[in-house]
Parts: sequence; structure tokens; C-alpha cells
Amino acid sequence: MHNPHPGLPEIDYIKPATLEEASRFLASHAGEARPFMGGTDCIVRIRDGVWKTKYLVDVKGLDGTDGIRFEAGKGLTIGAAVPMNKVAAHPDVQKHYPVLVEACHWVASYQLRSRATIVGNICNASPAGDTIGACMLLGGVLRVFGPDGMRDEPLNGFFKGPGKTNLKPGDIATALFLPLPPAGSVGRYIKLGRNRLGDLAIVGVTALGYPDASAASGFRFGIALASVAPVPLRASKAEEILAGKAIDEGVIAEAAQAAMDACTPIDDTRGSARYRKLMVRNLTRSALVDIWTKIRK
Ligand SMILES: Cc1cc2nc3c(=O)[nH]c(=O)nc-3n(C[C@H](O)[C@H](O)[C@H](O)COP(=O)(O)OP(=O)(O)OC[C@H]3O[C@@H](n4cnc5c(N)ncnc54)[C@H](O)[C@@H]3O)c2cc1C
Repeated sequence: MHNPHPGLPEIDYIKPATLEEASRFLASHAGEARPFMGGTDCIVRIRDGVWKTKYLVDVKGLDGTDGIRFEAGKGLTIGAAVPMNKVAAHPDVQKHYPVLVEACHWVASYQLRSRATIVGNICNASPAGDTIGACMLLGGVLRVFGPDGMRDEPLNGFFKGPGKTNLKPGDIATALFLPLPPAGSVGRYIKLGRNRLGDLAIVGVTALGYPDASAASGFRFGIALASVAPVPLRASKAEEILAGKAIDEGVIAEAAQAAMDACTPIDDTRGSARYRKLMVRNLTRSALVDIWTKIRK
């Protein structure tokens, strides 16, 4: 009989002293080495035999991976190694990026979030990642050190498929940068799971809205959907509808329908494709109504 949890095989733990050393090791052991932060995805995947990793490369503590830094007028830099609990408890994050705090709170349990990182959530590239939508809508950019040095990877365009991103062997994300959100922004993350804690999303809807005089409606919205496509999905048609005409209940319903139409979910143990699509429509509408009542004057 198939054993879904064959147990953790022997793995070599590598602790490089510099980013250059870590990158060289990862590039020269492509396919058998993997960087890790909290390890909450890595250890489970290796234990279950999904990943045949021989070397786990601990990149915590390397240049730029520690700490949270807020620069007034610029934005927030979250070191890749900072666990979600620390991010969610940080006063500048709570003040300027409350939608990220809300998203963090929906990840599993307090215990898990004391290890799990936002950068790990992003690099794991699960379509169900709870914090990815907020980071995308907030204009997140990953700082990545690779064989050719440092570069920026904007999150919009970063995801290529389940578990697949623009990262190449030898790449190490050192931090996530989030620019200051537009004035008057209000965000929501609504997660539908099989239970309140510890389950991946059947559907996740992140929405962010703010006044914008350059939009015909006077407002702009971002909408990101989890667990309904091979990658975290931006509902761009829905976003265009909300920017394009005076917002009322009918326009919100139209946008929610467009978000539903953008999804290509699958049937799995968490829910059917049809259920997911309908819930995207309902939860998008709820998130938009909630935001709209707060940002309209
Ligand atoms: C019991 C349990 C419940 C969970 N519930 C949820 C949930 O509700 N919602 C949710 O979204 N997730 C959930 N997860 C998944 C996981 O906890 C998250 O994805 C978490 O954010 C991963 O962060 P980490 O630091 O532990 O990543 P790690 O396991 O360290 O790494 C994850 C991936 O990112 C890569 N990586 C890590 N760091 C870097 C780096 N610096 N540069 C490049 N690549 C890197 C690794 O190679 C790996 O592919 C759950 C996991 C468990 C075990």
C-alpha cells in the first residue's frame, strides 16, 4: 500500500557564511539542494517524498535576510527570514499594511507562524498561499541574490505554475519590499477553508481599494485570488470594471462575476471547481462591499 508519509530521509544541513557561498553551492547542486527559511513547506515535502532534496541550505541570517525596516515616504522591507508572527506584530506593518496582517493571521496556527515566513510562502508558489495576494496587490518586489548578483523580482509576473517561479538554481530571496500603499487604501483578505485553522484555502480573496482621481470611477481596486488557478491570480477584468464606471451595487456584482469568470479551478478534496467559482463570486462581492463602504465619502 502507498505510504503518504514515508518519513524524513537523511538530509545534509548546509550553513553557508555568505550569500555568495550559498548561491554557489545551490547553483552547483541544482535539483538536489534547496534554500530554506522556516522549513514548514520543505520538511513536509521531503518527509512525504515529494521532493528528493539531498541538501537543505539554511540561508537565515545572511546579508539582508533579518529585520523589518520601514522608511517614511518609501515603504517597508521585510527580511526573508522574519517569521510571520513578527511581521504581523510590527507597529509599522499594522499601521500601513493591515491587509498583510489580516492575511498572516489566516495562515495555519500561531505555532506554525512562529516559523513560517512570508518569503517562504511566496517562493513556495502554492496557488493557495494566503499571504501572496496581499503582497501582489501591495506592489511587492523580491530582492534576489543570484549567480549574477542582486536583482529585483516584481511579484506580478513572478509565478509560472504550481511551485514554479522566476527563481533559478543559485537564487536566494533576501527580502520583500512593499512600497507605501496609496493614500486612503483599505484592504480585505477573506479565506474559505474547511475549518477555521490549519487548512489550506478552498478559495482566498484579497482586495485592496483606494481613491484615485485618474480612474473614471474615482477609485481603483486590486483583486487577487487564491486556490482557483495554477498561479495566484489577478482578476484584471474585474479591476477594470471598478475603475471604469461609477461604482454601485450593480457594478460590484458585475466585477464579482468577472472575478469568477477569470478562475480556472480544479476539483480536489477541499472543494469542487464549481463550488470554488461560486464562492469566488460571493466572497469577492463581500470584500468589495466592505471596502467600498469604507472608502466612499
Ligand atoms: C501544518 C501546516 C499548515 C499550513 N497552513 C498553511 C496555510 O494555512 N496557509 C498557507 O499559505 N500556507 C500554509 N502552510 C504552508 C507553509 O507553512 C507556508 O507556505 C509558509 O509560509 C512557508 O514558509 P517557510 O519559511 O516555512 O518556507 P520554507 O519551507 O523554508 O520554504 C518554502 C519554499 O521556498 C523556498 N525558499 C525558502 N526561502 C527561500 C529563499 N530565501 N530564497 C529562495 N527560495 C526560498 C524553499 O526552497 C521552498 O521551496 C502550512 C504548512 C504546514 C506544515
